[in-house]
Amino acid sequence: MSEILNVPEIFGTDVFNESTMKDRLSAEVYAAWKQCISTGSSLPLEIANAIAEAMKQWALEKGATHYTHWFQPMTGITAEKHDSFITPVGEGKVIMDFSGKELVRGEPDASSFPSGGLRAVFEARGYTAWDPTAFAFVRDNSLYIPTCFFSYTGEALDKKTPLMRSLEEVSRESLRILRLFGDNTTKRVNVSVGAEQEYFLIPRSIYNQREDLRLTGRTLFGAQPPKGQELDDHYFGTIRTRVSNFMKDLDEQLWRLGILSKTKHNEGAPCQHELAPIFTDASNACDANQLTMQVMKKCAAKHNLVCLLHEKPFDGVNGSGKHNNWSLCTDTGKNLFKPGDTPRQNAQFLVFLAAFIKGIDEYQDLLRCTVAYAGNDHRLGANEAPPAIISIFLGDELTAVVNSIIQGVNYTDQSQGVMKIGVDVLPPIPKDTTDRNRTSPVAFTGNKFEFRMLGSSQSIAGPNIALNTIMAEELAQFADILENAEDFDSALQKLVYDTFTKHQRIIFNGNGYSDQWQEEAEKRGLSNLRSTAKALPTYIHPKNVDLVTRHNIYTETEFRARYEIHLEDYCKHIRIEAKTMVDMALHQILPAAMKYSSDLAESVVRKKQVLGNLADECAELDLSRRLTECTNRMYRKVEDLHKAMKQVPAESRSAADYYSDVIVPAMASVRKDADLLEKLTDKSYWPYPTYSDILYY
Ligand code: ADP
Ligand code: MG
Repeated sequence: MSEILNVPEIFGTDVFNESTMKDRLSAEVYAAWKQCISTGSSLPLEIANAIAEAMKQWALEKGATHYTHWFQPMTGITAEKHDSFITPVGEGKVIMDFSGKELVRGEPDASSFPSGGLRAVFEARGYTAWDPTAFAFVRDNSLYIPTCFFSYTGEALDKKTPLMRSLEEVSRESLRILRLFGDNTTKRVNVSVGAEQEYFLIPRSIYNQREDLRLTGRTLFGAQPPKGQELDDHYFGTIRTRVSNFMKDLDEQLWRLGILSKTKHNEGAPCQHELAPIFTDASNACDANQLTMQVMKKCAAKHNLVCLLHEKPFDGVNGSGKHNNWSLCTDTGKNLFKPGDTPRQNAQFLVFLAAFIKGIDEYQDLLRCTVAYAGNDHRLGANEAPPAIISIFLGDELTAVVNSIIQGVNYTDQSQGVMKIGVDVLPPIPKDTTDRNRTSPVAFTGNKFEFRMLGSSQSIAGPNIALNTIMAEELAQFADILENAEDFDSALQKLVYDTFTKHQRIIFNGNGYSDQWQEEAEKRGLSNLRSTAKALPTYIHPKNVDLVTRHNIYTETEFRARYEIHLEDYCKHIRIEAKTMVDMALHQILPAAMKYSSDLAESVVRKKQVLGNLADECAELDLSRRLTECTNRMYRKVEDLHKAMKQVPAESRSAADYYSDVIVPAMASVRKDADLLEKLTDKSYWPYPTYSDILYY
């Protein structure tokens, strides 16, 4: 019998969380820390020293020998540099030491992180500062301290700083609306986020044999296996033992780290799985998701598996995404996207709903850009969920409410005339848990919005920064109108009516995969940015620059730096893929196919000696001919790709276009022949595991 895991007992044991702080800090220090958190002020040095000492003591007991400032640079993953606690005390001896200064501030060598030109290489210094709202934790014998990362001149070099800024903004503007509805108790509005994570697990031994998986995270070649997803036998299917052992181990590690891992199941594609946590506040959810992805990878290695977080590891097989469930919640626990029971509560709900609809409509492109990168191009706008067009699914009930407001009829009884917001009661809107429109990029699911365009590998910070900022902007506009209204109720009625009427084009409940929707969306004037190269230039439209700077989320320099980084990142990824492709083609695929074809030709010669004319029509001859035609063609295509790679323009936007318009199609063309060769070649000659080997191990 395996040991029984006492979950409540182990939960959060590797985290220096609030209850541990309460236990281990003096009452004064604990109170001072609390005070700093609630007011956002910085910690006095003596308080920092006391916390550092307690933290170190706790970490040593957990086996830590090092500490690291853990931060989220603009690469979209996390970074860490470990320092040991040792301090020499003479006579060749050391003690374990850790000061408040070391806790609060760090100075990693930042020269190699992308900065989009924010930090000249000669001024490479970047600083990290402890985010006292996020808890330190111990992992692999190191004390991890969650930090923000910024340059010498104070520009944010990370994803966490702007996220925190956006949380402040949306809280402040939400409070203005709440006050108008008579709520004088709420002090802060929090953003709740739950990020559902999809991933693939494959055997390590197979992974090791594929250079493309090792270097790019996805297969650049691979013919379709005889069996695909047509039987739907994997989705929610029984979890095989090896995977189930991995999942148990993963859950335990995540729970120890205080991550609320809740749901696990098989996904649609073979070898594909999902993990969903219970939602928490956005900043915490962002840290937790980063940590989850890392723990998944490490844990997989322990089980001789590899966790693939790439958006599209296998062509023709469902890719992996991440669903970002997002809502606003008061510090008193009220969800602002939950329709209420009274006319007043419903009116408030409609204001938040209207702000969301208006914001998504007005900033479609900005939102699209937050999920635009090379890996996600295989999903969005390709033959996969969701489409590149942003729209909102509201469900039947809520759509009927919105329509009744637009048409000026009462929802419950169409004969009674105009529905009065704040007077009439909304019909009950069920929290729809079954009948979801899986094709919608942004879906209302009863008390939250599910943003489904995120790719599985990406940081959730960017999309949440955008959602928060957009929402803050619209709420601010609404508050300006309502605060100055002579008659609140009629101003409210008009505001909601005007907003729904003007922005109804963004609401779409139909099938997002259909061709009709592409046409319909075009008629509605919705944007359809099918690739990263097409999408990214819209990021820095004056409207977006204005939005993010006005809300102090980014300075213009910070924002433009991010644009440059995204463009460069796109180019780098395609470049690595193209080079890997050339490498595998020249050193593995072509030699294998050529060898087989020449062995076949030799066997034709031998047959001819024995069988005479009968050999003229033998299968070997035909196959060898087809292989030769294909290897010749593919060889030339590889040469062309190789040459094309030498002509990439220097300027970043032109380079991105070039990669997208020239290199990506050239790669697809090489692959076509390679996959044909795979189908024609004797398996014993083939240099790496096929899709069948990988997906049906
Ligand atoms: P499912 O999508 O699997 O049917 P749910 O809709 O209950 O399940 O939840 C999906 C994800 O949304 C979970 O991570 C859950 O914690 C999160 N979630 C639920 N309520 C909220 C909320 N109010 N705000 C943000 N996320 C939420
Ligand atoms: Mg979901």
